[in-house]
Amino acid sequence: KLYNEVQDLKGNIRVYCRIRPFLPGQSQKQTTIEYVGENGDLVIANPSKQGKDSRRLFKFNKVFGPAATQEDVFLDTQPLIRSVLDGYNVCIFAYGQTGSGKTYTMTGPSVSSTDDWGVNYRALNDLFQISQSREHSIAYEVGVQMVEIYNEQVRDLLSNVLKLMNIGLMNRAVGATALNERSSRSHSVLTVHVRGVDLKSDTSIRGSLHLVDLAGSERVDRSEATGDRLREAQHINKSLSALGDVIFALAQKSSHVPYRNSKLTQVLQSSLGGQAKTLMFVQLNPDVQSFAETTSTLKFAERVS
Ligand code: ADP
Ligand code: MG
Repeated sequence: KLYNEVQDLKGNIRVYCRIRPFLPGQSQKQTTIEYVGENGDLVIANPSKQGKDSRRLFKFNKVFGPAATQEDVFLDTQPLIRSVLDGYNVCIFAYGQTGSGKTYTMTGPSVSSTDDWGVNYRALNDLFQISQSREHSIAYEVGVQMVEIYNEQVRDLLSNVLKLMNIGLMNRAVGATALNERSSRSHSVLTVHVRGVDLKSDTSIRGSLHLVDLAGSERVDRSEATGDRLREAQHINKSLSALGDVIFALAQKSSHVPYRNSKLTQVLQSSLGGQAKTLMFVQLNPDVQSFAETTSTLKFAERVS
């Protein structure tokens, strides 16, 4: 194995938590985040309770506090991403309510400054650089694909650029699709396929990376939502719980994994389970006003970890 860190991964599913900072201009700055530990501990405080009963401890493989940079987050993700070049299938998700920082983590707030780059640009860049540095021994082919899943319909977003060998062009294409209008109500899936041919032995190896910015997990009030909005909410609900069920079944090493229950889990089937490695970023908004959503996000995380 080229990257020893990969062997250190405990099991195939890991869960990281990331808490975004308060945004400039957010007036009331009361937080529910009580403690962020180096060891992955997170303590949340319920604003409507007092004393010891108000606090709850959650455990993650890692917790990134509001001061964590895009670089910090990537460094802890890089070994997993590089394992794709060794033939692994890897799936990385961002889960959380709208506004919790999913797109920030996966794509970043802008493409222009490399410091801002999220996991997807950094991953593409890293895979390209390594594949180039190995070009005398291994010939890599890298293809990208991006789809949106909206109301259980899969739509191709990058159909004309399946084999982009130019990182700049690829980044621009990905960036253009990442921040569109309905992105918070659809899942977007960036897939990187890698095929490496060992020039000496003429053997080949294949790996894939799925980078998924999930639809917002917030519960929509049934008494308020109607028509399209209600339909969207029902589809999102269904697919997120199907995803939860699949990851739960994998974590339990269950013999039946229910992939067929949503388009999302069907699209990701090849990179969930078996030898595949899964990482979920659980995104939190620190505001007390988000306490109910934060709790429901943490319950989802607890079930799959
Ligand atoms: P989501 O995709 O979950 O709806 P966004 O990624 O769009 O959320 O984040 C909501 C807002 O918070 C955006 O303005 C984003 O730039 C900002 N934000 C999110 N995470 C961070 C972070 N770690 N540091 C600074 N700003 C952040
Ligand atoms: Mg988003």
